Amino acid sequence: SDSHFPVPVSPDEVDLSQHYPRYFPADKGEEAPPPPRIRFADVGCGFGGLLVGLSPLFPDTLMIGMELRDKVVTTLFCCALDFCGCPVYYSKLKVTEYVKERILALRASNPGQYDNISVVRTNSMKYIPNYFRKAQLTKMFFLFPDPHFKEKNHRRRVISMQLLDEYAYVMEVGGIIYTITDVEELGEWMRSCLEKHPLFEAVPEEEIKADPVVKLLSTATEESQKVARNGGQTFHAIFRRISLQEE
Ligand code: SAM
Repeated sequence: SDSHFPVPVSPDEVDLSQHYPRYFPADKGEEAPPPPRIRFADVGCGFGGLLVGLSPLFPDTLMIGMELRDKVVTTLFCCALDFCGCPVYYSKLKVTEYVKERILALRASNPGQYDNISVVRTNSMKYIPNYFRKAQLTKMFFLFPDPHFKEKNHRRRVISMQLLDEYAYVMEVGGIIYTITDVEELGEWMRSCLEKHPLFEAVPEEEIKADPVVKLLSTATEESQKVARNGGQTFHAIFRRISLQEE
């Protein structure tokens, strides 16, 4: 059940000041600019490697990782995750707590950086519209999602025609959806859903080659590094949100 994590009833209920305190100071001043919105979502972010890689590339863009897993990880911490010489200690953390600690540690050891990334524990297959308004997101990432091989479990895949309707709703026209997997069958499935969907269109190869984000897909996350260590092949599908005449 989802009863053990809070779910905002609408995007207005998401307290961004908790996630990005530097962007939401208590004293706003007289002519404060309108507060920024989250623009990038990493769905099933795991240990947060993509967010950490993206943060310095887009220092003024707010990004969030969404992760459901409750599994506890044993982590070895040195002071602020730096090798500063202080004694290490072990900590048992849930995955999203680990990502939070990782971000706080990066902020502490790199002042002024990593203030634009955060994480929530949630079920993205159920609650995307609770977090984001229409046309809010400019990039969505689905990196190495669980394959759910059996046909009866395909409905659990994070890319499906129904879920693409939701993703299209929360994405800005021109926004980009990035998917990558080492499972060929899943790669074909994600590509074919995106090809069939009227609100998405493949990004041309030359544009993909020039996009600095693309390199991170196969290098920045923990799963991508595992695949690379094992010499595995990867399959990406990168599509743009387009508009229909009626919109
Ligand atoms: N993207 C990360 C990477 O590349 O290292 C993690 C990949 S891992 C194989 C897939 C992740 O998706 C898992 O951490 C899993 O818990 C998460 N996940 C699966 N279904 C989810 C859902 N409905 N909502 C949020 N996260 C989900």
